[in-house]
Amino acid sequence: MLVVMQEGATEPQIDAVEDKLVQIGYKVHRITGVTHSILGGVGPDAADPVEFEVMPGVKEAHRLTSAYKLANRSIRPEGTVISIGDIKIGGNEVVVMGGPCSVETRDQFFTCTEIVKNAGAKLVRGGAFKPRSSPYSFQGLGEKGLQIMREAGDKFGLKVVSEVMDLSQIPLMLPYVDVFQVGARNMQNFNLLKALGEIRKPILLKRGIAATIEELLLSAEYILSGGNYEVMLCERGIRTFETYTRNTMDISAIPVVKALSHLPMVADPSHGTGRRDKVQAMARASVAAGCDALIVEMHNDPNKAYSDGAQSLFPEQFTEMVNQCRVVASAIGRTI
Ligand code: PEP
Ligand code: MN
Repeated sequence: MLVVMQEGATEPQIDAVEDKLVQIGYKVHRITGVTHSILGGVGPDAADPVEFEVMPGVKEAHRLTSAYKLANRSIRPEGTVISIGDIKIGGNEVVVMGGPCSVETRDQFFTCTEIVKNAGAKLVRGGAFKPRSSPYSFQGLGEKGLQIMREAGDKFGLKVVSEVMDLSQIPLMLPYVDVFQVGARNMQNFNLLKALGEIRKPILLKRGIAATIEELLLSAEYILSGGNYEVMLCERGIRTFETYTRNTMDISAIPVVKALSHLPMVADPSHGTGRRDKVQAMARASVAAGCDALIVEMHNDPNKAYSDGAQSLFPEQFTEMVNQCRVVASAIGRTI
């Protein structure tokens, strides 16, 4: 912790800051400059800089190490590669996950699974438990939906990713899914994150609608600190003042997170834009920005989808998107 005192800060004010640093457990080094005194605290780094900034005579305070430890790239500079069967996420290949927003019927899900498989996807996505903004909207098929997903995944040789909304659903979902998705609305459901730290299956953790990158990394830290190191992070758009798109796809989060953390980064241009006509462009941009995987919604009949139809690609658009992304990937020395 580095605390810079204001010009003219009094000795009692400096002493008060020093006392607080010592009380938290820091060893204090004082630098007396011509205009400013600076107190450097070496130690546990448990404090929030604001605790110092509100003290009389303090100009500013900075934490010198990051609040997240296990998610920090310095732990594993070469990056984490997550294996799901023979699929590797975080390696040279950009992995495609695709499927409908919700599992609706057996026919619908099997049709979608075959389409995404033929387009080059390695995982099929679909929600059996849906976090809908309105309680009157379709809430998902529950266990029936999970059964359909597992059967379709096994039939077409795809791994299955689905959202867990509550920790009580974990035991039910374990036999059916290969990757647990934590949705944007649950990014800070700390009890859920802790429970997912206890299991040994990969987690796809989505960035919250109004979450900073540091908050996303701290949420990952909850899972990692439980001993589950198979965490991938996902940019899925954040809420801004812009209303043209459903969310603002923060493409810059991809290289930012890749530099800060060793965890693989997934991009979701579907929720990121909310508009089918913008999904391909944001998928291409995400690959160019360095994402390790894409998760994209498609539907065999999007206009009849129970959820997120407007952002779901038509089958041929999904195939076209994968083909375009393959070209972009090759330009940066990667494959799809
Ligand atoms: C979804 O993947 O369908 C979903 C609900 O995503 P998010 O949590 O990003 O809104
Ligand atoms: Mn959706």
